Amino acid sequence: MRGIVGFLLAIMLMSPAPKPALSTEIDSAVSSVDPSVRTPESVDWQLPARYVGQTVSRHPRGFDKRSIALTFDDGPDPRFTPGILDELKKRNMKATFFVLGWRVERYPALVKRIFDEGHTVANHTRMHPARPDQARATEEVKSTSEAIKKACGKYPTLFRPPYGIRDSWTARIAKGEGMASVIWTISSADTQTKDTKTIFDNVTKTPSNGDIILMHDIHEHTASAIPRILDELDHQGWNCVTLDKLFRQFDEFENSRN
Ligand SMILES: [Zn+2]
Repeated sequence: MRGIVGFLLAIMLMSPAPKPALSTEIDSAVSSVDPSVRTPESVDWQLPARYVGQTVSRHPRGFDKRSIALTFDDGPDPRFTPGILDELKKRNMKATFFVLGWRVERYPALVKRIFDEGHTVANHTRMHPARPDQARATEEVKSTSEAIKKACGKYPTLFRPPYGIRDSWTARIAKGEGMASVIWTISSADTQTKDTKTIFDNVTKTPSNGDIILMHDIHEHTASAIPRILDELDHQGWNCVTLDKLFRQFDEFENSRN
């Protein structure tokens, strides 16, 4: 009798309580995960330490990778952003979208699509003020970061001050939050001209390694110039990457020099 009790006790101690229902659920959930689907956990927008809280307006001297970053400001816009996303996808190119907080709140599904398709979503303030005071700037930057987090599950790590005003309160607040404040090195000038040939020339004439190109996904003329621009960049052999990826390449280059 004692032997049987001891035997049963030993079995109870050795074998954990069975959880068939739960483990089956977990197994099927794990096996149905598509590795190509982006989740907030699988995406790393982390910046190299040297760019955290800094203004970035140029690439390292002598940067040797054939990489450039396309950036689209002031959207997303349901009239033009989806078409631009389609064109990027066709060529497997990645870009960075500096979105406005009020548009993120209005078009969260479009922000989620930008995220899902492998691009980086970045902060460009809520209402695009040039030089707001400190209190307003704080609200502009923080509410936009919160809207981005709500739409795609991640806080942005990149900021661009409206009009590229690098000493504005919005830039200072964003840098204080640990973001990099990023200016462009090439402008498409698509806010000054509607001529698609001029926009095409501005972007594709003289890019060099590590350039950061400014465009706006709120203009019809920009959207219609995009297919030719992307084809030409592809033809010239450029690797179009997100800004955070470009910064990681900059960092590797800087580290390899030291
Ligand atoms: Zn802007």
